[in-house]
Amino acid sequence: MQHTDIVIIGAGLAGVSAATALARRGYDTTLIRARDHHPPDFRAEKLGESQMELLRKVGLEAAASAQMTAFDGVWLYRFGRRVEQGGEREYGSDYADLVNALRSALPAEVRSVVAKVTQIDCGPDHQRVMLSDGRSYECRLVIVATGLGDTIRKKIGVDKQVVSPAHSLCCGFDLVRARNDFPFPSLVWTGERFNDRISYLTLFPIGDKIRANLFVYRDFAEEWTRRFRAEPREGLREVVPNLERTFGSIEVVGPVITRPIDLMRVRNHQRDGVVLVGDAFCVVCPITGTGIDKALTDVDRLCNVHIPRWFESPGMSSTKIAQYYADPVKVARDESAMKMSLESKSIKTDPSFYWALRRLRSRTLGQARYAVRRLVARQEPSTA
Ligand SMILES: Cc1cc2nc3c(=O)[nH]c(=O)nc-3n(C[C@H](O)[C@H](O)[C@H](O)COP(=O)(O)OP(=O)(O)OC[C@H]3O[C@@H](n4cnc5c(N)ncnc54)[C@H](O)[C@@H]3O)c2cc1C
Repeated sequence: MQHTDIVIIGAGLAGVSAATALARRGYDTTLIRARDHHPPDFRAEKLGESQMELLRKVGLEAAASAQMTAFDGVWLYRFGRRVEQGGEREYGSDYADLVNALRSALPAEVRSVVAKVTQIDCGPDHQRVMLSDGRSYECRLVIVATGLGDTIRKKIGVDKQVVSPAHSLCCGFDLVRARNDFPFPSLVWTGERFNDRISYLTLFPIGDKIRANLFVYRDFAEEWTRRFRAEPREGLREVVPNLERTFGSIEVVGPVITRPIDLMRVRNHQRDGVVLVGDAFCVVCPITGTGIDKALTDVDRLCNVHIPRWFESPGMSSTKIAQYYADPVKVARDESAMKMSLESKSIKTDPSFYWALRRLRSRTLGQARYAVRRLVARQEPSTA
């Protein structure tokens, strides 16, 4: 039995960030990962400045920005027309490449162990984590950062509640044309009709190539999904017909990866000695682009605010753990991400009178803004 202050299970974005933040604060930290390398995984491929700022707070900004492709701003199209141009710096990367780069930048003080967890015994004072290779660790706190994986949650008796099953579908693919072939730094092209079940297509650079993420309100098992995977170019012409008219031929190279999304949050999670972060705690819709922000907010509040307080006194009862789950910054981040996830789908697909009115309002405001912009552009051609 080895002693350590904190065991973190799961070395994705949240687990690696937590390990880095805690080691920098001087805690003896053990990070348990199922595999040496994070496997190929279609997940977040774009980060904004606010997420980079959270990575800076945990000490991983340099490793992240060295791995990612930076680009300045976005052209936003609504109903096939450009309505905005500009915005802050963003970064693109394959998710596994990003996580592996962050793993390589882990401080030397982090004890990194590749093994499977076979048993976890948690209590108000000490926790024990047993591994498949026979090793075991005694610690004061266990952090579960296992993302969508259910195994560890089940071992500690935490249930999950699916808030919205088959909520959305994400499709990821590369384009034949290279980054320099397009006039925009990055593009967001929203669905051209209210009833088309398309949230948006975004195009952005990763290295020299252009990556596409298409977010739709469709089921993984439906015919549309099979057709899109088989004929993505035809699929794009059908869902965003004005895209090729605006930017020329859009051909897809390589496979189309599709990921169905269930919105989820945990139940019975307030327990002695163990705490959940990131997607292990709550999964929101990728359409909102808030998953990473949420995971890094969890890590920031837990590692920089709560753990230092908890370690000032003995014990790690559920009363201490409850302070993190009630943290107003965490709660606000989780709630707004979940609300945004549910509302983004309703405005696109809900047939009720209330959402029909919201759609009408959104369209009218959008058209008014577009008309004002055109008027201003005509009067001040040099600033158009
Ligand atoms: C298709 C898609 C697109 C997305 N796009 C965006 C976006 O544009 N912007 C955004 O902000 N968010 C996006 N997200 C959400 C974002 O990717 C996640 O919220 C974020 O990556 C969660 O990080 P995490 O560390 O909690 O989980 P993960 O990164 O999944 O890490 C979990 C880790 O735990 C490991 N693990 C699992 N079980 C065990 C076990 N038993 N033992 C040991 N290790 C284990 C896994 O192998 C993995 O390494 C997207 C998600 C998807 C699916």
